[in-house]
Order: sequence, then C-alpha cells, then structure tokens
Amino acid sequence: MIEGLFKENLKNFKPYTVPKLDYEIKLDANESFLKLSPYIMEKILDKINKVEFNRYPDPAAEKVCALYSKYIGINKKNIMAGNGSDELIQIITGALLDKNEKIMTLSPDFSMYKNYAETAGGKAITFQLDDNFNLDVDKLIDKINGEKIKILFISNPNNPTGNVLKRESIFKILNNCSCAVVMDEAYMEFYGESIVDSIYEYENLIVLRTCSKAMASAAIRLGFLITNSFMINEIKKAKPPFNVNSVTQALGEVLLSEVDYIKSSVEKIKREREFLVNELNGIDKIKPYPTYANFVLVGFEDADFVYKKLLGNKIVVRNYSDNRLKNFLRITVGSREENKIFIKTLRSILK
Ligand code: PMP
Repeated sequence: MIEGLFKENLKNFKPYTVPKLDYEIKLDANESFLKLSPYIMEKILDKINKVEFNRYPDPAAEKVCALYSKYIGINKKNIMAGNGSDELIQIITGALLDKNEKIMTLSPDFSMYKNYAETAGGKAITFQLDDNFNLDVDKLIDKINGEKIKILFISNPNNPTGNVLKRESIFKILNNCSCAVVMDEAYMEFYGESIVDSIYEYENLIVLRTCSKAMASAAIRLGFLITNSFMINEIKKAKPPFNVNSVTQALGEVLLSEVDYIKSSVEKIKREREFLVNELNGIDKIKPYPTYANFVLVGFEDADFVYKKLLGNKIVVRNYSDNRLKNFLRITVGSREENKIFIKTLRSILK
C-alpha cells in the first residue's frame, strides 16, 4: 500500500494550511501593518528588471549576507541566508538530528520547531513555561542534561507570549548545556536586545533572524542564520544549493540598504503597540500579557466566543486549538485605525 511509503510519525501531522476567512482587518499573523514605501517599491522594481532570470541564483546569497552583516555588526562569513527563517529551522534539524534524537521546545512556543524535528526523524520534548509564561531556567537545564537533548529552540521574544528571556538566563543555559542552543530572534527589533554578539564566544549558539516582521517583507521569504565558522560550515552541508531565489535576493539587497527606514518602521510599530496595550489594559475581564514583540497575547473567559464575534465583524486574530492556550487570543499590532476599530469591536463584544 502507498501509505506504507511515508514516515510513521508523519501520519499524525496535518499539512500547514491558512483558512480562507472573510476579513477586512488582519491581526492574526504577526506581520507588519506597514506597506513598503513608494520610494523603496520603485527601487525594488528597478532591481528586479536587472535580475537574470535564465541564471541560477547566487547559492551563497553573498550580497544580502554582506548587507545583513553590516546591519547586525557580525562578520559576513558567519551568516547564511534562508528561504525564510522557517527553512533555516528545517536545515538545522536536518543537519543535527539523527533518528530518535531529541530537541527541547518550550510550551508555548513556535510550533515549527517540533514539526521540523519530527519530520527529520527526531523527537520533541516539551518544557512548560509557568502561568505567567516565565521560564524556570535551572529546571530547564536539568531536563536538557537529563534527556540528552541535541537542540534547544527558543524564540526570544517568545511567539506567542511576547515575553523575553534576559541575556543572563541565556548565558546560564549556554554555560550549562552542551546541546545546540538556537535563539530565534524573529521579533528582536521590537525588543531591542540580541544575543548575536555572543556567537564567537559560545560554540553551541545559533541565532535566527528574519525580514518577515520588522522589515515588513514576509512575502519575500528571507531569513538569516548566524553562528560560528565551524557550525555554519557543517550546517551548510544540509542546505539546498539555490535556496534563496534571485528575486528575493534582489529585494533583500534593496531592503537592507535602507536601515534608517527599517528603524523608523520599528518605531512606528512600537508606538502602535503602546496604544494597543494601553487600550487593552483598560478593558475589564481580559488579561493582556506584557509584550516585547509586535503582538499581544490576551487571556479571555471564552476565547472561542470572542474570536467568532470578531470574525463576524471581519476582524481576524489568532485563535489556538491546543489546551494550554485554549482561552487566549494573539492580537498582532495593527495601524492606529485598525487598532481603534479592533478595540471598539472588542468592547462591544464583551459588554
Ligand atoms: N520564528 C518565529 C518565532 C516565528 O514566529 C516565525 C513566523 N511566524 C518564524 C520563525 C518564521 O518566519 P519566516 O519563515 O517568515 O522568516
């Protein structure tokens, strides 16, 4: 039978789908609410005109890596580009995990760590954050060493909680665990603190970044992996040769030449975050959690009810099916107008 051709653990998986919903305000995917400026769009179109479509892309994506190197102040030989940071998670699990080897992931955290670990033939062990979504670092370290974990994945700031792990805690993990420690800094720009400067010091540290959030470019699929020379050379062995296409590389070059623009976009998003959080804090019977990202996790008495009512008003937010987040919704920061409509609608739903 043809079913027998597939991996055993794939049977429990569901393909990633995005439901086709009828909405006008989209606050469900942690995207930037800002569109790229007309000036940048013009530069992009000009650059695309120069792409040689008959040729394969640069397999090392050298130009974008060099520009990213300037952006983060790390040597370009320590940077590898990916088709979104999603692909980089897949490449890491592909390079490091042998059959049945384990990764450690937090709950809640980004679900793709577990998915890619399991499709690579590995296993995912979950460590629960406490009721306020804080991490007991000492217990985590004991569990990592007891379970012989190969890779620890942590998103910092955490998606979906918006919480962060301070540098001292990350250093404690790095100093006490020999597994690869992947710090996924997809939302780092909204927080302002990074661990990337420590890649030379810690041989087991890998940092992930993306252009999908602060750079308002989820469509182009461009992410970066940053680590020491030994790690990067090993990980590259598991990379598809032409993983970042030429159009994405061209767009990335334009984007990363506009660092001031990126910084001012982040400031705009942070201002809207402040507005949204203040408004949420003024609403009874809900519990917004502190956030350092471009979204807010909010606890409700009945999240399903609120989700459906919001959708009825053409506003889509992120709802969860797993038990831990049953009564939570994750709200992406929108524009001032979107945030105002969202708050007004939410108030009337909860009345
Ligand atoms: N890491 C985290 C924590 C995320 O939330 C996301 C996107 N939701 C990603 C990685 C993937 O980002 P991308 O593939 O767009 O770079």
